[in-house]
Amino acid sequence: MRIDLHTHSSVSDGTDSPAELLAAGRAAGLDVVALTDHDTTAGWAEAERSRPDGLTVVPGMELSCRWFPAGAPPISVHLLAYLFDPEHPALSAERARLRQERLGRGERIVAALADAGHPVVWDEIVERAGGGVVGRPHVARALVEAGVVESVDHAFATLLHHRSPFYVAKADTDVLDGIALVRAAGGVPVFAHGLATRRGRVVGDEAIAAMAEAGLLGLEVDHPDHDPDERAHMRGLAGELRLLVTGSSDYHGSNKTTPIAACTTAPDQYEALLAAGTGATPFPGTVGTPG
Ligand code: AMP
Ligand code: FE
Ligand code: FE
Ligand code: ZN
Repeated sequence: MRIDLHTHSSVSDGTDSPAELLAAGRAAGLDVVALTDHDTTAGWAEAERSRPDGLTVVPGMELSCRWFPAGAPPISVHLLAYLFDPEHPALSAERARLRQERLGRGERIVAALADAGHPVVWDEIVERAGGGVVGRPHVARALVEAGVVESVDHAFATLLHHRSPFYVAKADTDVLDGIALVRAAGGVPVFAHGLATRRGRVVGDEAIAAMAEAGLLGLEVDHPDHDPDERAHMRGLAGELRLLVTGSSDYHGSNKTTPIAACTTAPDQYEALLAAGTGATPFPGTVGTPG
């Protein structure tokens, strides 16, 4: 059984529609795909409708969060969440707040770029996102199309880098609150790419221990942005803290070079994740679940 628990469609900052993404997953030999768009469940319905035969879809998302270290600026962290109730009021409100936050922040980044003479227009970027949750990858594509940079990757390495003068942070959810919200909604919170240093500062072991204390249930260990030492460290922590271990591609279609199924999750860990999620069921829904 081949299982990829972290993918993005055009409902957020990937380039495949949910239907295309699932077809790509099936073509790559996957048996299970989790759809984890940023801060939204808007792709779940299409995923359920367009699910290829033989593929199980785990509904999920990736919540934009922050860890607040003592005496240092907040660190951006991503929290994967699976099988939560999509209508849980507090979690739903927090997703909506984050999407609004993304719009304000994206507009500020683009205004600063435009002021510096780069020909990018916020309204056009929002329109091109087609209702999808806007992120820096959308701005990156506009910069590529305007001929300012040669690739999305180049945009992230320069103008959109978190240390670029054009970068604007967003007021993401305190990760301890995010974990509590996901659990309250019956979901399974998993810390995404926790040691991916190329994305910026990463948290220390004490932060991961605090997240576990707050109800975190898993660590994404096998991820394209983790090197072998980082994977080994995360696997060790998962053992100490008794957390699930996942592996995933973090596929974004052509916005990144990573193919779907680049990393995968072991079946026993997947089964444990399914058993822990009570707010939603995978597609197709399980038959005969008591209660
Ligand atoms: P944002 O959420 O707007 O801060 O943008 C961060 C998103 O950009 C994350 O979802 C990453 O997956 C994506 N990202 C980060 N670095 C790159 C890169 N080099 N190429 C393409 N996408 C990236
Ligand atoms: Fe993304
Ligand atoms: Fe992420
Ligand atoms: Zn992701």
